[in-house]
Amino acid sequence: MEGKELVCPVCEKGRLTPQTYSEEFRHGGKVLRVDGLEGYQCDTCGADPVFEDQIRRGHAKYQDARRRADGLLTGIEIRACRKHYGLTQQQASRIFGGGANAFSKYERGDVIQSVAMDRLIRACVRHPEVLAELADEAGIVVAATDVDTGYVTEPEKSIKAAALTKATRKSCNVVSIVDYKKAQSTTVPASGKDTQSDESSDWEIA
Ligand SMILES: [Zn+2]
Repeated sequence: MEGKELVCPVCEKGRLTPQTYSEEFRHGGKVLRVDGLEGYQCDTCGADPVFEDQIRRGHAKYQDARRRADGLLTGIEIRACRKHYGLTQQQASRIFGGGANAFSKYERGDVIQSVAMDRLIRACVRHPEVLAELADEAGIVVAATDVDTGYVTEPEKSIKAAALTKATRKSCNVVSIVDYKKAQSTTVPASGKDTQSDESSDWEIA
């Protein structure tokens, strides 16, 4: 469609130039604004036709605005979560459920994921062992990408390895098992089994 002059379908004389516009709509008692919607404007009759691919991209923007307002992951964010574990859309759909084409629909914005699905996706980013278990049940071997190096790690160890990388921890706010154990070993309890007497000493009246 690009590079070729488009003739206006309304007056059949004017030339169409691409334009972007914003729209506001009500959702759950809030007014949401969607920017960057695409369309065309006729230089002769002023008609503003919107073509099919523009409608599709616009719809995805509406859906993301809704999802943001409802505290759900957007299409791009769902895609990032899936890519984090190096899954195809088909694999993700088999692991998480929701139907054969669930993830392509979520990512395109054709369908908005349920709150339950949203929470499950987030849980899997934070806790790789949850994904490992679901993948195992679905009979899928996950070859997660190490986000620090871009290196696809050995499938068996990959899920745990991916969880331990700095970038993952930072982006998902994950405390790794290693960090947890380190923290445990350095915070030696002050007085072993006498913790209870410590507690009671707080209440002691001098
Ligand atoms: Zn026209």
